[in-house]
Amino acid sequence: MEPSGQELTGLVFNIQKFSTEDGPGIRTTVFMKGCPLSCSWCSNPEGMNRFPELLPSKSKCIACKRCEEACPSDAIDFKTGMREIDWELCSDCLICVEDCPSGALTAAGDYQTVDETFKTVERDRDFYETSGGGVTLSGGEALQQWEFARDFLKKCQEAGFHTALDTTGYCSWGHMEQVLQYTDLLLFDVKHMDSQRHEEKTGVPNGQILGNLEKAVGLTTVWIRVPVVPGFNDSELNMQRTAELAARVGAEKVSLLPYHDWATEKYYRLGRCYEGDENTGCAEPVVEAVARWQEILDAHGLVVGVGG
Ligand code: SF4
Ligand code: SF4
Repeated sequence: MEPSGQELTGLVFNIQKFSTEDGPGIRTTVFMKGCPLSCSWCSNPEGMNRFPELLPSKSKCIACKRCEEACPSDAIDFKTGMREIDWELCSDCLICVEDCPSGALTAAGDYQTVDETFKTVERDRDFYETSGGGVTLSGGEALQQWEFARDFLKKCQEAGFHTALDTTGYCSWGHMEQVLQYTDLLLFDVKHMDSQRHEEKTGVPNGQILGNLEKAVGLTTVWIRVPVVPGFNDSELNMQRTAELAARVGAEKVSLLPYHDWATEKYYRLGRCYEGDENTGCAEPVVEAVARWQEILDAHGLVVGVGG
């Protein structure tokens, strides 16, 4: 349940330690819940909704049936001999999570104060200092909770940590500008240069995103991140236009993030279908798409990374 007190909280669904793909060095990445986009290949489906939600595991269930008794919505039954959840009935009240003795029912997302999140990331201070790393705020879309993002990154900077913000870029410029005051590195997603194509696969047009990118480059260091999704954004024209944009705005680096379907199981655990494969068509291996992206970006004199 959302806290009712005065203190600012953020809805966090994961804090990933020893991350090496979200900026330089060894980092801790804090994932904020809630995203205005709906990319079908998203590798963090539990970060899409801006509320805590039920994330069950089949393998941990010991079939004690306590959850069936606890559920006020009759959303759980054992008619097949195994615990089944009717997602049409489930209201994500999370009452069953409290009653599950084996950890087979967990909540994706909990509300934390800035100090609570900071205490977790502070533990790895030594790793940041020895590796040139720091703290990255990611999502979902962290700027949907921009006040938390601003205060958290400010606190990290005051502690001497290098700060990075990973964003879809789809947000109010005023909010982004406030958070950038405390952001040493901006990891900015550019998914497709054609607005109509962008909207077809992410649910939103790209005009506001590209406008925010143009403004952000004057305020901090920017790495553009491109998810390489064959069948979606690997046309020659789109690759050329992306490279031209990156070169023109002066991005320090372009990171290519190859498509993968590792999150498929999580979609099913959340009671959803995974539709990412519809984008790839599986006709073209991702490795070839990455190689072609690299060639084009190299030709524009850009520093290119794969995976981070
Ligand atoms: S989250 Fe609530 S509604 Fe959903 S299965 Fe658990 S107890 Fe039932
Ligand atoms: S309470 Fe947990 S362990 Fe028991 S049946 Fe439900 S999911 Fe399985």
